[in-house]
Amino acid sequence: KQQKSKMPKYPGLERYSLVEKMGDGAFSNVYKAYDTKMDRMVAVKVVRKFELNAHQNKHLHRDMKKKPRVTERANILKEVQIMRQLKHSGIVELYEFSESNEHYFLVLELAPGGELFHRIVKLTYFSEELTRHVIVQVAQAVRYLHEEKGVIHRDIKPENILFEPIPIIPSPPGAKPDEDDKEDEGVFQAGVGGGGIGRVKIADFGLSKVVWNEHTMTPCGTVGYTAPEIVKDERYSKSVDMWAMGCVLYTLLCGFPPFYDESIQALTEKVARGQYSFLSPWWDEISSQAKDLITHLLCVNPDERYTIDQFLAHPWIKAGEMVEEVKE
Ligand code: ADP
Ligand code: MG
Repeated sequence: KQQKSKMPKYPGLERYSLVEKMGDGAFSNVYKAYDTKMDRMVAVKVVRKFELNAHQNKHLHRDMKKKPRVTERANILKEVQIMRQLKHSGIVELYEFSESNEHYFLVLELAPGGELFHRIVKLTYFSEELTRHVIVQVAQAVRYLHEEKGVIHRDIKPENILFEPIPIIPSPPGAKPDEDDKEDEGVFQAGVGGGGIGRVKIADFGLSKVVWNEHTMTPCGTVGYTAPEIVKDERYSKSVDMWAMGCVLYTLLCGFPPFYDESIQALTEKVARGQYSFLSPWWDEISSQAKDLITHLLCVNPDERYTIDQFLAHPWIKAGEMVEEVKE
């Protein structure tokens, strides 16, 4: 394949043959690759060691980015350590972790469809049915993180939500898969709401955090002796994922985000005040139940914001379950 020759060679990564670049971050490169040992396609996230600092601390003030190397290493190890504990169909699995002098390598389960973000751009916006199909899967993964693993993702957004496409024409029985075929691109089954989206998977645990003791599976600190601010902090940190899910839900339904401004300062103020609206005409046809759910996620007060269980119990989510049941 022509692209193969253009792929970089990384010492220490000989087991994998890189096929094409999937993600083009400023500080990490993600490649689709063939694992020669396991005979399967994977995604390899290559993180340059010397650039890690600025990336990991992208949310911090510039003066705080000058941290020693040790911190960079700790950050990537944290991402790896958290991912290793996770096993869920809605979360990208970490298969292997290794490093060379210059890079860290995270070998990940491949999500062949890539980012949800690109699918929104392609479709302009999602139908309510397709949106529900996607957000329910995200929510189930978040429920697993929050309630079973005590993990807060902290960077939920359409770039970090990946998917498996539904191929339109199933290969006839006995047909030999053509490996040079460009992954049947553009050939999608209508699927739910015509989106061609199958399973949805959360990726990128680079900013995530554990709020539970990993061994006892209890909140950090001894149960019964935990201070209120710790208990509260745990709730607040989970609620950041719920806010982000509100933003994703809003964006899927109309094609643009709830908060936007050219100026970062003005944008920050809008977010701080929770200043968004269901703009006409884009929101005119969207159900009031969908809007109601968004309203309960985009509340400035985290105490009032829905938890993941409240989210999953909302009528708009439940409406989908009825449809699924009727189909069966
Ligand atoms: P960063 O910390 O640089 O944002 P990510 O883990 O989010 O790193 O990966 C960057 C991009 O690479 C993603 O937004 C996505 O486009 C692509 N990517 C990451 N993991 C996978 C995967 N498992 N399958 C397919 N594409 C992926
Ligand atoms: Mg990312």
